[in-house]
Amino acid sequence: MPRYCAVKLCNNRGGMPSKDNKRISFYPFPLQDKTRLKKWIVNMKRGEWTPSRHQYLCSEHFTEDSFDLRWGIRYLKHTAIPTIFPCLCDVS
Ligand SMILES: [Zn+2]
Repeated sequence: MPRYCAVKLCNNRGGMPSKDNKRISFYPFPLQDKTRLKKWIVNMKRGEWTPSRHQYLCSEHFTEDSFDLRWGIRYLKHTAIPTIFPCLCDVS
């Protein structure tokens, strides 16, 4: 199953380059870490929603310093919180 981003208005999918050709990576929700998971969901403004283990956020929602680069692979730091989201003002 191709990975896709759980953020509304974000159309990034696995295997597709983003507009500016940046590499998109997908990261699972920190389901084991309730405190951090809550911060992710609050930032996503999804209310009482609970993600499943099959849902991911794409790398577009994290700032550069959320990543560790090792051997050419970007790892999400285990303290990272997504902060970059498209404007939801037009969505009711
Ligand atoms: Zn996304």
